[in-house]
Amino acid sequence: MKMKALVLTDYKKMEYIDTEIPETGENDVLIRVKSCGICGSDIHGYDGSTGRRRPPVIMGHEASGIIEKTGKNVTDWSVGDRVTFDSTIYCNNCESCRRGYVNLCSDRKVIGVSCEDYRQNGAFAEYIAVPQHILYRLPDNVSFDQAAMIEPLSVAFHAANMANHPIGASAAVVGSGKIGMLLIQTLRMYGFGTIIAVKKTETNKDLIKELGADYCFCTESDNVSDKINKITDGQGVDFVFEAAGNEKTINLSINICKRNGKIILVGNSAPIVSVPLQLLVTKQLNITGSCASAGEYTACLDAIARKQINVDLLIGNCAPLSDGPFWFDKLYNDHGNNLKVILNP
Ligand SMILES: [Zn+2]
Ligand SMILES: [Zn+2]
Repeated sequence: MKMKALVLTDYKKMEYIDTEIPETGENDVLIRVKSCGICGSDIHGYDGSTGRRRPPVIMGHEASGIIEKTGKNVTDWSVGDRVTFDSTIYCNNCESCRRGYVNLCSDRKVIGVSCEDYRQNGAFAEYIAVPQHILYRLPDNVSFDQAAMIEPLSVAFHAANMANHPIGASAAVVGSGKIGMLLIQTLRMYGFGTIIAVKKTETNKDLIKELGADYCFCTESDNVSDKINKITDGQGVDFVFEAAGNEKTINLSINICKRNGKIILVGNSAPIVSVPLQLLVTKQLNITGSCASAGEYTACLDAIARKQINVDLLIGNCAPLSDGPFWFDKLYNDHGNNLKVILNP
C-alpha cells in the first residue's frame, strides 16, 4: 500500500511522492496525520548543516492525527481516537527513563530524524506508525493544528519548570523565535513578574507584547544590557531563558542575569561558544541546559484547552502537504522570521 509523503531526497531537495505506508508493529498505532508543523530544526537539517536529516528521510515531529489501525498488543487506544505524540521515542527501561527523564533516554530516537545512528521517518506523510507509549489523547476542543504546537510548547514548559521559584520573579527571554514566543506566554502563565523579551530585529514586536512580555528590546537598535539594568535597579533579572544558542546571546545572558541568578539554556545552534569565566564565577551564576521535554504534554494540552496559552497567535500559515517543497524553500530563505507553518496531508 502506498501513501503520499514529503521526502527529503537530497539536501535542499524536497519531493512530494508515493512511498510505502509504514508497518504497524505489535505495540504501534498507525496514525492518519492531520497536521504537522515545520520545526526550525527541520529547516536547519534541510541543507545538511546539522547532519541530522540525512536523505532520504521524511521529516516532521510536531504532529497530530487520527488512529487508523492498532497493533495486536494495543489495548488502550482505538481506531478513530484523536491523538498527538511525543517527538521522542524513548525506551521506558533505561536508567534515565526509570527516573522520569525520558528526554535523556540512552536509546532515544527523535521522530523525523536520520543521523549516523538511526533513521526514524516522521509525519510529513499521510500516515505514521508510532509506539503506543508515546501517545496523548486530544481534548475535544483542541484542533489538530493547535495540537501540532504541543511539541514546541512542551519545550517551553520543560524550560520553565527549571525555574525553582517563578512566582513574581523577573525573567528575560533571549531569542524570540517560536520557542521564545511560546516561552513568553508560558512564563506569564507560570506567574513570573516582569518579563523582558530580547530579540535581534524589530519584527513581531507588537505580537511579543501581546503574548505577555512587558518589554521587548532589540539587539540591533537598543543597548539591551543598559535598558535591563535600568528596569531592574542595576541588579539584572532572576532568570534568563536563552532560546537562540549562539556566543553573542549567551554572553548577553550572562551580563543581564542577577548575581546568583539562573540561566536556562534552550537554544543550541553553536556547537561551542566561549564565555567570560570570571564574570560567571564571581556572579555565582547557575547555568543549566534544558533538553526537549519529559512528560509536559498533558499540561500543555490542558493549558491550550483551558485557553491559558493561545497557540493560534503563533500559527502563520496552514498549507496542504503537497505545498511542502515551496514552504521549506521559503522558510530556508527567510531566516526564522516566520510564524509557524503547518502542513496538512
Ligand atoms: Zn521541533
Ligand atoms: Zn530509556
